[in-house]
Amino acid sequence: MTGQEIADILSEHMDESRIHPDQPMSAYTSFRTGGNALCLVEVHNIEELRRVLTCVRKKFLPYVIIGNGTNTIVEDEGYNGVIVKLGGDFTKIDVTGYEVSCGGGASLAAAARQAADMWLTGMEFACGIPGTVGGAIRQNAGAFGGQMSDIVKRVRALTTAGEEIVLRPHELQFGYRHSIFCLRKYVVLDAVFELKKGDKNEINGRIEQYAKERREKQPLDLPNAGCIFKNPKEGFSAKFIDDAGLGGEHIGGAMVSRKHCGFIVNAGNATATDIIELMNRVRDEVYNQFSVRLEPEITVLGQRKRY
Ligand SMILES: Cc1cc2nc3c(=O)[nH]c(=O)nc-3n(C[C@H](O)[C@H](O)[C@H](O)COP(=O)(O)OP(=O)(O)OC[C@H]3O[C@@H](n4cnc5c(N)ncnc54)[C@H](O)[C@@H]3O)c2cc1C
Repeated sequence: MTGQEIADILSEHMDESRIHPDQPMSAYTSFRTGGNALCLVEVHNIEELRRVLTCVRKKFLPYVIIGNGTNTIVEDEGYNGVIVKLGGDFTKIDVTGYEVSCGGGASLAAAARQAADMWLTGMEFACGIPGTVGGAIRQNAGAFGGQMSDIVKRVRALTTAGEEIVLRPHELQFGYRHSIFCLRKYVVLDAVFELKKGDKNEINGRIEQYAKERREKQPLDLPNAGCIFKNPKEGFSAKFIDDAGLGGEHIGGAMVSRKHCGFIVNAGNATATDIIELMNRVRDEVYNQFSVRLEPEITVLGQRKRY
């Protein structure tokens, strides 16, 4: 089936202007590279999402949800299915009392900023994480000693059967960069975070300190997807990569950052293949030198599954 054929089918279920056949995913991922999605759709509410997913499943098409694409790479050959982005109602953020309620497509950093403006503490760690609430919950994103599992009170999700369920922390199977959403193809519809009242100056001080550390230690001037590998039980992935002498190692336009060896950057016209091959080289070299297995933190979308 072609992208246009899929678009024609989906246009019966949602506004045509938000259906994009053969869409370059470089525009939707922070690595700024990668192939086309057969079709990318932006849904604005749960009913629309439900209709699109029902239709896609009926046609046996592969599909995936994308947030801000800050932890994702799409292979150069493209994604042969439908990529669904959560917009509209899914981007809402509301702060009431000690609770921050956010749609799955809301900016995590914006939610953290709004919480800080209301003198709420507990979400400062999230201010510099450039993803959506849905992506952050799936990955149990974290930084500076905080992680999503510390603040999540409940998550509303859509199951593959089209059922809406509410998951409490003990049901979310949070672990290091892990949640139930890594195991089941549920969609994070929205979430509620529970924070505490704090001191405004202290909250802002922490946010500024974390931002400063990121500017000093991370290659924020070049397209990247954050840390490429999870930290293994033996230590920090960036340290193993550095100790293996891989800082500055490159394939095509993809390079292991010298500033932070946990990052691969798109140093200029990197293809997704360059990045994936560099990931493979780094993984193999670290294993050869230290017998430590590095596992990717990022999601690779495509057909070949070379990683
Ligand atoms: C400069 C930079 C710094 C970063 N720093 C950190 C950091 O400090 N800590 C950290 O943990 N990460 C960090 N990251 C990585 C990334 O920002 C986080 O993992 C973030 O949570 C990913 O969110 P996203 O919306 O971009 O997800 P995407 O990359 O769009 O998606 C990631 C995965 O989540 C799934 N997903 C997305 N939305 C949903 C949803 N609504 N329901 C179900 N599944 C969904 C996707 O299918 C995919 O499998 C950094 C990235 C960059 C570029």
